[in-house]
Amino acid sequence: MQNRDMDIKGKEIERERALLNFRILDTEPEEAFDELARLAAFVCKTPIALITFIDKEREWIKSAVGIDIDKREIPLQSSFGARLIRDPEEFLAVFNPTSDDILGMNPLIRSIKDIGFCAGVPLTDLSESKIGSLTVLGYKPKDLSFEQLSLLKTIAKQVMVQLEQRKDRADHTGPVLDFKKLDDISKSQDTQDHNYNKVLLSASQDMTTDTVRTVTKKDSENKGIQITSLGEKEISDWVYKLEAQSKQLILLCEMDELLQAANSDQDIYTIIKNYVQILFPNTTGALYVLNDALNLIQDVVTWGHNVRSEHSFTPEMCWGLRLGRIHTGTSSSKELHCQHIVAGNPFNYLCAPLSAGSKVLGLIYIQDSEEPSYDFDYERLGSSDKQYILSTIAKHSGLALANLKHREHLGAQAVYDSLTGLFNRRYMEETLKRELSRVTRKKNLLGLIMADIDHFKRFNDSYGHAAGDALLRSLGSFFKEHVRREDIACRYGGEEFVLIMPESSLENTRMRAEQIREEIKQLRVWHRGSLINSVNVSMGVVVFSEHGNSAETLLESADKALYRAKRQGRDRIEIA
Ligand code: GH3
Ligand code: MG
Ligand code: MG
Repeated sequence: MQNRDMDIKGKEIERERALLNFRILDTEPEEAFDELARLAAFVCKTPIALITFIDKEREWIKSAVGIDIDKREIPLQSSFGARLIRDPEEFLAVFNPTSDDILGMNPLIRSIKDIGFCAGVPLTDLSESKIGSLTVLGYKPKDLSFEQLSLLKTIAKQVMVQLEQRKDRADHTGPVLDFKKLDDISKSQDTQDHNYNKVLLSASQDMTTDTVRTVTKKDSENKGIQITSLGEKEISDWVYKLEAQSKQLILLCEMDELLQAANSDQDIYTIIKNYVQILFPNTTGALYVLNDALNLIQDVVTWGHNVRSEHSFTPEMCWGLRLGRIHTGTSSSKELHCQHIVAGNPFNYLCAPLSAGSKVLGLIYIQDSEEPSYDFDYERLGSSDKQYILSTIAKHSGLALANLKHREHLGAQAVYDSLTGLFNRRYMEETLKRELSRVTRKKNLLGLIMADIDHFKRFNDSYGHAAGDALLRSLGSFFKEHVRREDIACRYGGEEFVLIMPESSLENTRMRAEQIREEIKQLRVWHRGSLINSVNVSMGVVVFSEHGNSAETLLESADKALYRAKRQGRDRIEIA
């Protein structure tokens, strides 16, 4: 098989596995997904939106708003979603899809009279597998604006959050979001005509501007999609709810962008604090992170007044951390309260664990203000909407923290040698060049010592490779502790080290080399409970620019001097 084919095959298998893992295929429609599809239609000002998942045989529709469907499956050959997830781009739009060779065969697209375009973004899981599509369909061909596209991507992320949460909830009985109000609206409409499927339209280019309408199945069969009006109260309720959600999504989207760009833990903490305060006005809270030993949760930033949770506590003291999902403590209920809560009058609080995969990284804690709120919109923390937003923030924040750690780790790998903890050769070479141009500008000197362990092969043979490693590690610590702050100590190769000493004269460098050679001889190295013999080193000493005027020539001269030291009996220093 060609590499490319193998690559595609590998991706297919990964996707298949990811999909199975979510156990979403062939499940009943769920309001939480329908609501996100509705939001996508609202944001893109299209009458129809779909959430679909793609397995190896079909595109399967989890949610369809704006269109009543009998069959939830579309064959892969004519599927828009399948084309989208194979496309390297993160967005695909097709104008006049009925005249497209492939999409023209798509039964759903063919059933929509006068369809003008379909556009979508992939649903991508945490391991970057594209498993489905969030698609919007409209009548007139039109481009989505940058804002619409960003929001569509954010909604796609929300679909994935919803999927993750759905999977996490062992006792899953329904959607996390509280869409009761919307449900009620749907039900009242359904009683009028249960064949009708609702769709919300805003001032769309496709439609007349002032209506929110429904699509009937009968009509879509006969004359294409037809629209009838909903009641005024229902319209305003829907628009209000969707606009509020849309604002929250914009904020979450903004927060996510900032988190992705954050370069330090501190940046991430500040972003979380700021956005929790915007999305949860009138609340007090704290952000906690888990220490390296994984036994203590400590606050790193707090906001509001009188945080009624301990500054630090063990992870077992929090139900959110124990259960691995958001925990709500309400003033009214008799449910379990977290032990890190400081005693006092009852109040509402939420504990949302920050995690990435199965790793717990911290916790966001928020509590209701103890002051009564005069804002009539003010919703208490117990509501499932609030829980949903906080768990979304926690999810994005956890991933951002994990990504940063991963980047730092990769960064460290690029700079440090993993055995000795000293700088690696590549970093040393870059640094030497930089230092040389600096000392040249300042007409200064630079000393360099190249050290090599004597008869290290013999050492390994006598004590074993692991003991050799222990010795190299000790030498790493030794160099780190025994050099000036401005010196740069590196592992140059297997048992060779280079010490760069900016602004050091030849005499000073030679003296330092002598001292280091003596001290290494005294080094006491423990390995598996016993003291092992120390080693001698030989060294070549050079100074810029007397022994070379570039990094290459300087290292070459140091190497030659070192070779001479070896030839002349080892355990000594030679100047180039
Ligand atoms: P010389 O005095 O001439 O430098 O002799 P030597 O034995 O030190 O030099 P040689 O170049 O013959 O061998 C270097 C040895 O260093 C061989 C290799 O096993 C050992 N070595 C290199 N890297 C590592 C390492 O990461 N761990 C261990 N334990 N040994 C290493
Ligand atoms: Mg060597
Ligand atoms: Mg050696």
